[in-house]
Amino acid sequence: MKTISHMKKITGWLRRQLKPIERLFESDLERAIRKEEFVFFYQPQVDLVTGSVKGVEALLRWHHPQKGMISPAEFIPMLERTKLINELSVFLFRQSMEDLKLLHNAGFKDLFMTVNLSAVQLEDDKLVSKLEKQLKKTKIDPKFYECEITETSMMENIARDVAVLKDISNLGVKLSIDDFGSGYAGFNYLRRLNIQKLKIDMEFVSSLFEHKNNEIILSAMMDLGHQLKLEVLAEGVETKKQEEWLKQNGCGMAQGFYFARPMPFNDLIRFLEQEKNAQDEEICLKNNIQKKCKNNNRKIKLRS
Ligand code: C2E
Ligand code: CA
Ligand code: CA
Repeated sequence: MKTISHMKKITGWLRRQLKPIERLFESDLERAIRKEEFVFFYQPQVDLVTGSVKGVEALLRWHHPQKGMISPAEFIPMLERTKLINELSVFLFRQSMEDLKLLHNAGFKDLFMTVNLSAVQLEDDKLVSKLEKQLKKTKIDPKFYECEITETSMMENIARDVAVLKDISNLGVKLSIDDFGSGYAGFNYLRRLNIQKLKIDMEFVSSLFEHKNNEIILSAMMDLGHQLKLEVLAEGVETKKQEEWLKQNGCGMAQGFYFARPMPFNDLIRFLEQEKNAQDEEICLKNNIQKKCKNNNRKIKLRS
C-alpha cells in the first residue's frame, strides 16, 4: 500500500512538473498561429507512365524563430489535441491555394494540389465553409484541389465524417485516402464516399521485396483501386527497383524521395521548370528537331 501511495505522489509530482512545459508549448503554438510561423513544403506526385509531375502534396513545417524548422510529427499531435488545428485551417487552405495559383500562373496549368485533413478538422462545423470561401477568394478551380484523409482518422464518428466529406466532395474538391492499408476503415469509405485516389501506405512499398507475399498484397491493393476506377498512388518510393516494379505492375502514380523530397515553394518551382525543360528536350530529340529545340530558360516568378 505504501508503494502505491508513493507511486501516486511521484506521478502527481511529475504531472505538476510537466504541465507548465505543455502550457508553454501550447502558448508557443498559439503565438505561431497568430504570427503565421508555418510554411508548406511541397512534394511532387509523379505519373509513372509519362514520368511527369501531376501534382504536389502540401506538407506543413513550423518555422520556429529559435528552433528552426520543426517537422509535423512533433507539432501536429499537439495541434490536434488542443484543437488549435482548426484555427489554422483558413491559413492552410489560403496558403496552399495561393501557391497553386502561382504555379498555374507560372505555366503549370494542370497541376493539382493536395492537403492533409485530420479527424479534428472534420469535427469543425465551419470547415466546409472555410474551404468554400478560400476557393472563391483565390478563384481556384476545385478540380485541381484534393483533400487527403487517413483511414484511421475516421474511426470515431464515421457518420458525421462521411457527411462532412460528402459536402467537401460536392464543392468539386477531390478526396483521397491516405496511408491506405494501414488502418481499418478504408473499405467503409470506399463504399460510402466519392473517393478519387488511393494512396498506398509507404510501409507496403518499403517492405515490398522482403517476402513474395508482400508483392502479392501490394498487387491486390492496386487491383482493388483499379477495379473501382480509382487512381492509385504508391507512397514512399525510394529506389529505382521499387519504381520499376510499380511501373511493371500497372501502378499509375508515385511519390517519394526517389523522385523528390518535400521542398520549399521556390525550390519546387525551379524543380518543375527543370523537369519541363528536360521533357521538352526529350520530345525534341525524339522528333529529331534539335535545331528548333532551345532550352527556354524563361523568367519564372518566385515567391518573395
Ligand atoms: P503523410 O501525409 O503520410 O505524408 C508523407 C510523409 O512521408 C511526409 O512526412 C514525407 O516527407 C514523408 N515521405 C515522403 N516520401 C518519403 C520516402 O520516400 N521515404 C520516407 N521515409 N518518407 C517519405 P512529413 O512531411 O514529416 O509529414 C508527416 C505527417 O504529418 C504526414 O504524413 C501527415 O500525416 C502529417 N501532416 C503534414 N502536414 C500536414 C497538414 O498540413 N495537416 C495535417 N492534418 N497533417 C499534416
Ligand atoms: Ca498525406
Ligand atoms: Ca501517407
